[in-house]
Amino acid sequence: MARIALESLGCKLNQAETESLAWQLRDRGYVIVESAEMADVYVLNTCTVTHVADRKARHLLRLARRANPRATIGATGCYAQRAPGELESLGVVDIVLGNQEKHRLAEVLGGRSDLPGDPGRRLGDYRGRTRSLVKIQEGCSSYCSFCVVPYTRGEERSRPPEEVVEEVRHRVGAGYREVVLTGTKVGAYRWDGEAHSGLARLVAHVLRETGVERLRLSSVQPGDLTPDLLSLWADSRLCPHLHMPLQSGSQAVVERMNRGYSIADYERAVSLARQAVPGLAVTTDVIVGFPGETEAEFEESLRFCRRMGFADIHVFPYSARPGTPAAALPGQVDERVKRDRARRMLELARQSARRFRQELMGSTALVLWEGQVGHSVWSGLTPNYVRVFAESERDLTNRLLNVRLVGEHGRGLLGEVVYGG
Ligand code: SF4
Repeated sequence: MARIALESLGCKLNQAETESLAWQLRDRGYVIVESAEMADVYVLNTCTVTHVADRKARHLLRLARRANPRATIGATGCYAQRAPGELESLGVVDIVLGNQEKHRLAEVLGGRSDLPGDPGRRLGDYRGRTRSLVKIQEGCSSYCSFCVVPYTRGEERSRPPEEVVEEVRHRVGAGYREVVLTGTKVGAYRWDGEAHSGLARLVAHVLRETGVERLRLSSVQPGDLTPDLLSLWADSRLCPHLHMPLQSGSQAVVERMNRGYSIADYERAVSLARQAVPGLAVTTDVIVGFPGETEAEFEESLRFCRRMGFADIHVFPYSARPGTPAAALPGQVDERVKRDRARRMLELARQSARRFRQELMGSTALVLWEGQVGHSVWSGLTPNYVRVFAESERDLTNRLLNVRLVGEHGRGLLGEVVYGG
């Protein structure tokens, strides 16, 4: 049996696909290990959404080669799809497979004769984890002006509902207590192209047909939040957390981004969701320094984000992606200005997240414990995605336990486990 280490950069969809690859490879007799150093094969599932993601991919591939000169090294994912030649020219990668070909990884590896045949040990197995990501669709046909994903992932296509249910059942059977339904754009989920077979119907189906204890959606857009979908949160297994990428809180900028919604649409959708789902956490992504973004537009975005009371904001300085319309727009913003705006938006993100967490203090939440982070200190997540730390002498891994939220702890909260609660 050959040992393989898999690593993933970028979005949850990439993570879901890496998990799927791990399952497929295990079925073919591979042993999954934690690092390139221990592996006969190392595969990086790359991302190319910013130039920073590209740089990280090149760095990790070089590190892997340095750590293990004899290993077979592969790159797959969006960077491999967009610029295979660039990765090959690094001189450290043996196999480059784009998104359309990544499902062939096991086959391609199987065809290589230089893999050693020693038995290896079962290290870093995918069992024992708490949260599993399941892909429901991929591809995007929206063509936001800054985004390279429609070119690297192709048009929207969905997986059959029965296949999704089967995979969720399989993960639950393997011991996972939480499943995240992911995709490039989960709201674009359609089966048979009929409007009634969209995301709401799929989520209802998964809740009805599987014993999953916690279910999340990876991210949604304002237009996805139909009454049908929101009504499903009556089932407490669906986590009260929505990640809704805003990208900019300035009306003029979202128009230039071709996001397909107005700031007012976004605000209305969040307010409907908050009415329907008590205790809802709304998190977002924001790009700063989009081409032509003036100081006034940035401040408008900052004000809007403040008003929305996000539970967290992921901040991205704009990164021009070759081949996208925004890369050719006039008024590219100076890097120093981008850095300054990122700093100001991050400051707001910290304040906003802290305010959200403080409102939870004194309440009790059902925490899914992930693992130990220090001597007798455990870390886990609430249903609304707040990180909680607690002390315990017992092994809390993969347990769902009620916790009293009693104080602040770094970028999370401090909890006291209520055993038997
Ligand atoms: S919706 Fe826009 S940002 Fe999201 S993947 Fe599609 S094009 Fe990219």
